[in-house]
Amino acid sequence: MDSESSSVELPSTLAESQVVLKPRKARPFFGRHPWVLDSAIDHVAGQPGNGAVVDLLTDNGKFVARGLYNAHSRIRVRLYSWSASDRLDQEFWRARIERAVEHRRRLGYDAADGAARLVYSEADGLSGLIVDRYGPYLVVQATALAMQLRVDEMLPLLAEASGARGIVVRADRALAKLEGLSVEEERTWGELPDGPAFIQEHGLRYGVELGLGQKTGFYLDQRENRLAAARYARGARVLDVFCYTGGFSLAAAKLGGASEVLGIDASEKAVATARAGAELNSINNVRFEAADGFDALDELVRRRERFDMVILDPPKFTRTRRSLEDALRAYHRINRLGASLLPPGGILVTCSCSGNVSREDFLHMLAGVAQQLGREIQILEQRGAAPDHPTSATCLETEYLKCFICRVL
Ligand code: SAH
Repeated sequence: MDSESSSVELPSTLAESQVVLKPRKARPFFGRHPWVLDSAIDHVAGQPGNGAVVDLLTDNGKFVARGLYNAHSRIRVRLYSWSASDRLDQEFWRARIERAVEHRRRLGYDAADGAARLVYSEADGLSGLIVDRYGPYLVVQATALAMQLRVDEMLPLLAEASGARGIVVRADRALAKLEGLSVEEERTWGELPDGPAFIQEHGLRYGVELGLGQKTGFYLDQRENRLAAARYARGARVLDVFCYTGGFSLAAAKLGGASEVLGIDASEKAVATARAGAELNSINNVRFEAADGFDALDELVRRRERFDMVILDPPKFTRTRRSLEDALRAYHRINRLGASLLPPGGILVTCSCSGNVSREDFLHMLAGVAQQLGREIQILEQRGAAPDHPTSATCLETEYLKCFICRVL
């Protein structure tokens, strides 16, 4: 902390090595994009270890930014500061974490038994670090090697900024491969609950398996969309496909006043948690089934079932540009089937969390559905992730979630 007087800390927080860009490659980084791909790099001066602090320089030696190095990753350097006087030391990380936590407090996402994303990677100037709060517990996901190497340094800072009682550190296997991360045993800090952590969202209670389920345990990004969708559910028969632990279903039933809700998810475990959630909130007009979403939609259409509202929140269909066409076909299929279940005036809540699928692509897909069904689709609300998942204006990769509320005539 007293880095001025510490001769040991100095070399590790200021850059010892320089990463020199190819000519004419500096623009995006002066523009504060935080990912320096290996293809932009001319050479590296020095021998930075993985996770080491490096300076990014133009081809004629001008300072651009300071970041952390990873020879294993296609993202060779992640940038954290554009000021040559910043050390990437504990005080620096503390300030970033506090700035992030303060934003969630301002949003009013700080109820003691609430849940929120406290740190969202690039959008909070902390590329490779994701932190979600579930009541008094945090789930930390390091998605970059440099952050995994600093986890021990980050945990006390996170605990201090948030007042957390316990922390689970989770490693993402797919990303671990990209980053050359060792997939370590789940690590913990402080005191953790024996079973799930119980949280509240919009007055509904949910049990969350910390770090065990999908994401960090709960889809926090859909928080405001669950409430927005519920507003259209009064008296409605609702179908929620890809329901996970039933967030949209329970909100539609309890907050929206739906008459009846059917939630479907492929994961038995998610469905069991969803049923427990219905019980926890004394909701008895909601039914959850474990089934494939595509098959279930086919079957419901075949049986000529009718729903007044259909919610579609499928998993990411694509991670690469190459599979974009396949993904759009899959979106088209579920949206066509989902819309077919609606009477004229029915509500379609349709989401995509594939970062590669743009809003424009998604709108285009919906137009295709309207054309094929010969029905009008009115878009009532074009929504994104809750504001605890900000989008960085200089790193648009942080925007991924689309949630459109539509009326199908
Ligand atoms: N709407 C949920 C989040 C959904 S995430 C919420 O608000 O919490 C996507 C879900 O799709 C996951 O729960 C995953 O288990 C499920 N899933 C993935 N493939 C599926 C398939 N083929 N059929 C049905 N569900 C699937």
